[in-house]
Amino acid sequence: MLKTHKIALDPNNVQSTQFAQHCGYSRVAYNHALADFKDGLANNDWRSHCDLLRRFNSIKRDTYQWCDALSQNASKNVIYNNFKDAITRWRSGQNRFPKFKNRSHGQSYQADSGRGTIPVEGQRIKLPKIGWVRMFQPLRYLGTICKVVISKHGHRWFASILVDTSVDDPIPDNRHKPVVGVDVGIKHMAITSEGVYYDNPKALARYERKLKRLQRRLSKRIKGSRNRYKIKTKIAKLHYRIACIRQDAQQKATTAIVNNASRIGIESLNVAGMVKNHRLAKALSDASLSNFLMLLKSKADRLGIKIVEADTFYPSSKTCSNCGVIDSDLSLSDRTYHCRDCGHTRDRDLNAAMNLKQLAAGHTESINACGDSVRPCPNERHESVNQEDSTGQLLLFSLS
Ligand SMILES: [Zn+2]
Repeated sequence: MLKTHKIALDPNNVQSTQFAQHCGYSRVAYNHALADFKDGLANNDWRSHCDLLRRFNSIKRDTYQWCDALSQNASKNVIYNNFKDAITRWRSGQNRFPKFKNRSHGQSYQADSGRGTIPVEGQRIKLPKIGWVRMFQPLRYLGTICKVVISKHGHRWFASILVDTSVDDPIPDNRHKPVVGVDVGIKHMAITSEGVYYDNPKALARYERKLKRLQRRLSKRIKGSRNRYKIKTKIAKLHYRIACIRQDAQQKATTAIVNNASRIGIESLNVAGMVKNHRLAKALSDASLSNFLMLLKSKADRLGIKIVEADTFYPSSKTCSNCGVIDSDLSLSDRTYHCRDCGHTRDRDLNAAMNLKQLAAGHTESINACGDSVRPCPNERHESVNQEDSTGQLLLFSLS
């Protein structure tokens, strides 16, 4: 089983310069291969990634004399893997034709030359031509190291280490845990039907003033100047911090939710449609809800927990979680749900989470019945409650 552990590196000044040089070399090789490939297309000559690498190797010592001091894995991997993938995706219609890379686009290079070529010992990693580099934590998985990618985010360098682990983590048995509905929102990042509220860290809002001030200062600096570069670095650092705060909260919340559920009901978000509301756009992007749901899905998948996703138009907020009637007049500003039919009052988000839980729980029964997934209709439930009030209530109580 392949697992990746991304570890922050602690290089010295010489090493971080070498990282940047390798990233530059990788970019130069990619751009050279792309230009060569385009040239081939123009002359009706299809050049494969093997041809491209051979052609690059034949000229590199003359055109790029400085590359002798660097690891040749950087150029080999980028043409053999990244460029080949880009062409494959273009041919299958998945992506557009590859573009030339520039320096500001993001820095990374692949350092290994195949399986088991990069040694890791405790909190350090040995990279070709660079030597031992300190890491901030030891590698989490045991096994053969298949791939090592060095990249830069903000001001910090990272190593993404792909490990082929033979030992699998034991999967905890979550079958006795409850079915959980999860409603996501802006004020609270997530609300579970168990009544747990996960606060939104509002990372961008917290640093908005500082970010604005830096961006204003950046706009007054001369392009290409040292002072402009210094402020750019500060802005990158701040963006990195904002992303870290957001990710930390999301990772903790999703892990807690997944560890305490046997089945999870979520709503599918139409984020593109929601962002059109200009008053909410910034807060929505700050919350990055789709990322939250993506994390939740991947963690649930790893533990074998089924995720039941309501379709986009399922009225999770407007349905009464007690009797199932739909209140179509409910506006975004109504923070509590008050049912006009049964008089039930509950927090708006908790009400939505309860509905999603019922949806997820109902999913089991419909699968058992006919082998197909059928969404329980809220109106039908409403009718059955009216006919046999006591049994209907009992059923719903046992669910909640
Ligand atoms: Zn009701």
